[in-house]
Amino acid sequence: MTDETWGHVRGELLKSVGKNNFSAWIEPISFKTVEDRTAHFQVPTNFIGTWVSQHFGDVILRHLISAGLEVERVEFAVGGQASAPMAVNANTAPNKVASATVAAPAPVQNRGLPEFSLNPNFTFSNFVVGKPNELAHAAARRVAEGGAVSFNPLFLYGGVGLGKTHLMHAIAHELRTSKPELKVIYLSAEQFMYRFIRALRDQDTISFKELFRSIDVLMVDDVQFIAGKNSTQEEFFHTFNALVEMGKQIIISGDRAPVDMDELDNRIASRLQCGLVVDLHPTDYELRLGILQQKVEAQRERHPDLKIAPGVLEFIAHRISSNVRVLEGALTRLFAFSDLIGCEITMDMTQECLSDILRASDRKVTMEEIIKKTCEHYHLRQTDLMSPSRARNIARPRQMAMYLCKKLTTRSLPEIGRKFGGRDHTTILHGVRKIEELISLDSQIAEDAELLRRMLEA
Ligand code: ADP
Ligand code: MG
Repeated sequence: MTDETWGHVRGELLKSVGKNNFSAWIEPISFKTVEDRTAHFQVPTNFIGTWVSQHFGDVILRHLISAGLEVERVEFAVGGQASAPMAVNANTAPNKVASATVAAPAPVQNRGLPEFSLNPNFTFSNFVVGKPNELAHAAARRVAEGGAVSFNPLFLYGGVGLGKTHLMHAIAHELRTSKPELKVIYLSAEQFMYRFIRALRDQDTISFKELFRSIDVLMVDDVQFIAGKNSTQEEFFHTFNALVEMGKQIIISGDRAPVDMDELDNRIASRLQCGLVVDLHPTDYELRLGILQQKVEAQRERHPDLKIAPGVLEFIAHRISSNVRVLEGALTRLFAFSDLIGCEITMDMTQECLSDILRASDRKVTMEEIIKKTCEHYHLRQTDLMSPSRARNIARPRQMAMYLCKKLTTRSLPEIGRKFGGRDHTTILHGVRKIEELISLDSQIAEDAELLRRMLEA
């Protein structure tokens, strides 16, 4: 890769990760070389290397591939030393270990088939189940039993960092032990595309087809990447059909429901709909706390003297957004910090050490957005919502908007009152209580609240 290409990739990275992340994490790394399909980067400290590898490894890789580079991995090493690199594989999510020694992903050999690696931590036993993901988890479990194909394909979708890749790797781990005779392939849609393009270039599409059609279980992660890429979609569609017709299990993930992927070929979308489509919802407080507790347990096995002050995990679960990757990142940073300075993780230290993450998840939802979305949802004009009208069809949505402002922002009742055309704080409190009460009595209200919350937090 030339410096020019890296310059271009940096430009793209700036757009995808935002200015703050860019200056904190991308700026400090420098590109060194590409060797054996691995892009090597130099990082100033182990801490930055681990962090970049965990949080930005896959996006860097993605942009390198988009820029036309034939890379499958990125590695970060401190200074000139090449030892203990922090690797990110194209087909594994990065490892989550505080120190720079990242457990090597276990390569899976399939004769004649592309080699792929699984993240050893992405197992069912490491997956915390809660309300937002219980359906996806149950479906993944069922598929992992490897019995008669019950739903084909299984389509898992949800926002970034909610556990799609984790569940797919967990299925692969499980099948590897219980049914070692099965040919199981896991790859990202991008890798699928990359291999296909390579086959085209090498005029070897026949063996590409044979290869993929000899598989028992095919998992393709992040299928949104091939939406709009016509020849790849076409090939994917044929592979997909061939496998389904042979009764082979297919598992696919995407960031949206098939019907919502605008550029996805209609035939593919409707084929995907034929199977089981389940979504991973944004995490809730209980699930976040559960995940944090599990990660702390795991860390304690390696560092028995780890000390965390009471309330810290609750605080993090409360304040950090739904994305589990961000949550883990926060914890990783705290572990690294306490390890470095050898002290207990206190509330003060947490606030200091995570200030950027906390700030980022703070500026989430504004009262303006809440009002706008609520009006859209109920087909009202903002002037009506703000008006003194007590008509039920206006007053209820207004109370809903008040309720959401209270729940989703840190605004006080008087502040909310001012926003709603100078209403008294007791009026706001009444509205909030009314909706709280109705949520447990009226399933339509509960559904509206849930839907709006989800749209606003997305
Ligand atoms: P996605 O593929 O949906 O973007 P990942 O599967 O890569 O998300 O998950 C992001 C990180 O969060 C991974 O490190 C994963 O192990 C962790 N994670 C997500 N959901 C859970 C869960 N329910 N329990 C434990 N870890 C989780
Ligand atoms: Mg993923």
